[in-house]
Amino acid sequence: MRIKTKLVFLTAFCIGLYTISLLLIMVYLINTRFFMAEKDLAEKDMDRVVNAFQVQTENLRVIVTDYAFWDETWNYAMNRNPDYIQANLDDAACKNLKISLFAIYNQEGTQIGMKYYNAMGESASFSYLPEKITDSEILQTLIVQKSALVRFGEDIMILSSSSILPTANNGPVAGLMLMGKIVNDEIIQSICKQTRVDTKIVPEKRGDVVLVNGKYPHIQTGLFQDLGDSTMTGYISFVLKNDEPILLLQTKTPLELRAQGISLINLIISLFVVYAIVIILFMNFLFQYMISRPLSLLEKTLSHLTLNANFQLSGITSLFVREDELGNIARAIKEMKTRILIAHDEVQKNNERLSLLVESRTAILAQTNAKLEIFKKIMETTSEAVIITDLNGNIIEMNDATNLMTGYSREELLYKNPRIFKSFRHNTAYYKELWDSLYSDGFWQGEIWDRKKDGTIYPKWQTINVIKDSTGKPLNYVGVSSDISVLKESEEKLLHLAYYDPLTSLPNRTLFSDRLENKIALATRNDKLFGLLFIDLDRFKNVNDTLGHMMGDLLLIQVTQKISECIRSSDTLSRIGGDEFTLILDDIAEDENAGFVATQILHMLEQRFEIHGNDVYIGASIGIALFPKDGRDPETILRKADAAMYLAKEDGRGRARYASDDLEKETQRRHEIEAKMHTALERNEFRLFYQPQNYSAQAKAGLPIGLSGVETLIRWQHKPDEIIMPDDFLPVAEETGFIVSLGTWVLNEACRDAKRWFDMGKPLQVSVNVDTRQLNAKNFVETVFAALESSGLPPNLLKLEITESGFVKHIDQVIDIMKRIQAVGVSFAIDDFGTGFCSLQYLNRLPVDCLKIDQSFVRSMGESSSGGDIVSAVISMAHAFGLCSVAEGVETEAQLEQLCARGCDTIQGYLVSRPMPYDAFVQYLYQQ
Ligand code: C2E
Ligand code: CA
Ligand code: CA
Repeated sequence: MRIKTKLVFLTAFCIGLYTISLLLIMVYLINTRFFMAEKDLAEKDMDRVVNAFQVQTENLRVIVTDYAFWDETWNYAMNRNPDYIQANLDDAACKNLKISLFAIYNQEGTQIGMKYYNAMGESASFSYLPEKITDSEILQTLIVQKSALVRFGEDIMILSSSSILPTANNGPVAGLMLMGKIVNDEIIQSICKQTRVDTKIVPEKRGDVVLVNGKYPHIQTGLFQDLGDSTMTGYISFVLKNDEPILLLQTKTPLELRAQGISLINLIISLFVVYAIVIILFMNFLFQYMISRPLSLLEKTLSHLTLNANFQLSGITSLFVREDELGNIARAIKEMKTRILIAHDEVQKNNERLSLLVESRTAILAQTNAKLEIFKKIMETTSEAVIITDLNGNIIEMNDATNLMTGYSREELLYKNPRIFKSFRHNTAYYKELWDSLYSDGFWQGEIWDRKKDGTIYPKWQTINVIKDSTGKPLNYVGVSSDISVLKESEEKLLHLAYYDPLTSLPNRTLFSDRLENKIALATRNDKLFGLLFIDLDRFKNVNDTLGHMMGDLLLIQVTQKISECIRSSDTLSRIGGDEFTLILDDIAEDENAGFVATQILHMLEQRFEIHGNDVYIGASIGIALFPKDGRDPETILRKADAAMYLAKEDGRGRARYASDDLEKETQRRHEIEAKMHTALERNEFRLFYQPQNYSAQAKAGLPIGLSGVETLIRWQHKPDEIIMPDDFLPVAEETGFIVSLGTWVLNEACRDAKRWFDMGKPLQVSVNVDTRQLNAKNFVETVFAALESSGLPPNLLKLEITESGFVKHIDQVIDIMKRIQAVGVSFAIDDFGTGFCSLQYLNRLPVDCLKIDQSFVRSMGESSSGGDIVSAVISMAHAFGLCSVAEGVETEAQLEQLCARGCDTIQGYLVSRPMPYDAFVQYLYQQ
C-alpha cells in the first residue's frame, strides 16, 4: 500500500474516531443531563395540571359559596321561596355553571332540592345522596372539609359545599348547599388548555372517594420515559389514605431537548463528514504536492540508479534547492551517487586485484595441495613413526610405521595419550625438561626408552615439534621417532671400533692416548718410571705393494702376535698407524730394561714370516722414550719416541734408539725440509752423488779399480754445509707426486754427466733410480728418450733401476714401456731384489739385465746361514735368467769375500766408496 493511501486511511480513521468519540460524549450528555432537564419539565407540567385541577375545585367552591350566601337561596332553605330552583338552577343554569350535581339541605339536614346530570349532560336520577345528611359520612366530612373528590359509581366528581347564610349575614344558617362537577373530558380539556399539558384520564384506575385538602396531599406522581414516543409520561394518582387510587391522570411532555439534541448531532455528523472529506482532500493534495510526488521522484531515481557514470539525476534536480528533509535526501542521493561511483571504481579495481590474487592464491593452493599430497605420501611411507596430538596430548593422527613400531593398532591409539608407551625408565625430571624445552623452544629431541604393546622396552630417537598457526598460537604436537635399538647395538660396536683397531684388536691411537695420559698420571703419583716404545716396521710398504693389502694385513696380525709374545700383560701395545705400533712398558726398574725389550722385539720381527706360503722378511725400527726423563706429558714423550724411531731408521733400520734432544732437533729439521722441498728444484738445490759399482773379483776396499758402472743418488744441498739425505725428503716427494718432476731432473742430469765422462773418454754405464710413479707416468718413454737425446748419451750407457713394486700393478703395460725403452739400448735392473715379491714367471717376462741384492740380505749373510742362502739363491736365479747380480751395501771384506764365493758379479758399497759428488767422482774416474 502506498504511503499516500495509508495516510488517507489514517486521516479518515482519526477523523472517524474523533467524530464517534464526540458523538458518544454528546449522546451521553443528552441521555443524562438533557434527561434531567426533561424530567424537571415533565414534573412541572404535572404540578401545573395538579394546580389547574385545584383551580377547578376552587372555582366550584366559589360558585357554591356564591349561591349559598345568596338570600334567595336562604329563603328557599327557609322554605320561603319554592320557585327558587326553577328560577335560578334550571337545566340551562346548571349547564352554564357546568355543574353536574347540586343539592340543598335545610336546617334539619333534610334534602329539599337536588339535581343530577350524567356524563352526557342529561338529567338523571341520582341515588348516592341520602335524604338526611346524617346518613352520609361523605356529607359530614364535606361540611368540615368544604371540598372533596369522590367517586359515585362510574362518576368521579369534584364536590364542594357551603353553609347557606343570608347575604347580610343577619340570619341563621338555613342549611347546606353542595355542588358537584363530573371530572370528564371537558374538564380535562380545559385543564389542557389552561396548562398546555396534554392530559387525559386513565380510566382503568378508579377508587371510591378521596378527600382533597388544600394541595391534594394524597397525590402521587410518577414519570416514565417512553423512548419510542419521544415523550415523557407522567402519572398523577389521586389516592385515598390507604393508598388506594381513585383517579389517575396521565400527562405527556414531549422530549424536545432530546429531539433537538439528536438533530444537533445529526447536523454535527453531517458537518463533520463534509469537513472530514474536505480535510482529507486537502491533506491528500498537500501530501501529493509536498511529499508523495517528490518521494516517487526519489523512488524512481533510486530505482533507476545505475553504476554508469553518465546516469543523470535530472529527475530530482528540482529537489536540490528544497530546504527540508526531502531536499536533504535528494542532495544526499547526489552525494551518494558520487561516492558510489568512486566506491564502484574502487570496487572494480579491487575486484581485478582480487581476481589476480585469487588466481595466484589458487595456484599457490594447488602447489600447496600437491606438496601436502607429497607430505602425506611421505608420512605414509616413511619408516619413522609419526604421531600428531592435540594440545592435551591426545593422539589424533599417526602413520602405519607407528603401529608397526609400537605393536598397537590404529584404533587402540586414537585419542589416547602417548604416555601408554611409558617404560618408566626415565624419571619425572627427564619429562619435565622435555616439556620445558617444548614450551620455551617449541622443539625437543632426544633418546627415549618406550614400551611396545608386547612389553618390550626399546630405545627410540624422538623429535617433538610444536605446530603453530600464523599468529603463533600452538595447534598440535608432532612427534617423529625411530627405533634405534639396532643403532644402539652398532653404537657399541662403533665404540669398540673407536678405541680398538679392528684388524689386530689392539688399542688404537685414541685409546693409546688415553692410556698414556692415565699412565703418566699414575706414574707421577706413584713416582714410577715407564718406557714408551715407538715401533715402525721396515719394508712393510713393499709387502703391501707387492703381495697386496690382504697379505699386509695378515702380516700385521702376525707381527702383533710376535710383539705380544715379548711383553707382559701389564704393558700396553697399541697400533697407531699402518705399520706403526706403540708400547707402554709398565713400571721399568732401569732405563736399559726398555732397550732389552726393544731388542727382543727387533729380533722377533727380523724372523721370517710365512704368509700363505710366502716367506716375508721385514724388520722394524724402534724409538724409545722414558718417563719422566724424556718428558712429563703425552705429546712430548710420544714425539721423542717417534723422533728416536726415525733416527733408528736413518741409522740403517732394524735398530732401536733411545730418545735424545738432538733427535728432536733432527725431527724438527725434517719438518722444515718437507716444507721447503718444493721450491728446491727451482733454486737448483738438488745434487747428484755417484757411487761406483765394481766387479766383485777386482774390487778392493777404497780403491777405484774394476769399475763396472755407477749409481746416481740424489742429495739435497739445503744449505752450503747441510746435505739432506733422500730418505728424509723422498717419501714426501712420493706422496705429493713431486717425485715425477724430480725424477725427470735426475734423469737429465745423470745423462748429461755420463755424456761428459763419455766425452772425457771414460765411458761408464750410469744407473738411475726410477720411482714407481715415474714409471707409471704417461710419457715416461718420451722423457727417457728426450733425456738421451738432449744429452747425446749413447743409450747403452744408461741403466734404469726399478723396484719390484714398480711392476706389480699393470705388469703388461710396464713390460711394454720397458721394452720400448730397452729397444733403443737402455738396460734395466731390479733394485732391492728379494724384499718385495717377484714371481719367477714375471722375472722371465721382464726385460731386465740385472738383479740388485738388497743390503739386508748382504748384512744377514754374516749373521745367519739362512741369510747367505738367500744371497746364493738370488745370484743363481739371476744367472739362471741370464742376468747380472749386484750386491748392495757391501761394507766389509768378509761380505765381499762371501759374495765372490757365491758368484756375485758386481758389488756396491762403502767398502769401495761412499757416494760422491760429481767432481769427486771425476777425480775417482781419473784415478783408475
Ligand atoms: P738404493 O737405490 O738402494 O741406493 C743405495 C743406497 O745404499 C744409497 O743410499 C747408498 O748411499 C747406500 N749405500 C751404498 N753403499 C752402502 C753401504 O756399504 N752401507 C750402507 N749402509 N749403505 C750403503 P742413499 O743414497 O741414502 O739412497 C737411499 C735410497 O734413496 C736409494 O736406495 C733409492 O731407493 C733412493 N734414491 C736415491 N737417489 C734417488 C733418485 O735419484 N731417484 C729415486 N727414485 N730414488 C733415489
Ligand atoms: Ca738403487
Ligand atoms: Ca737398493
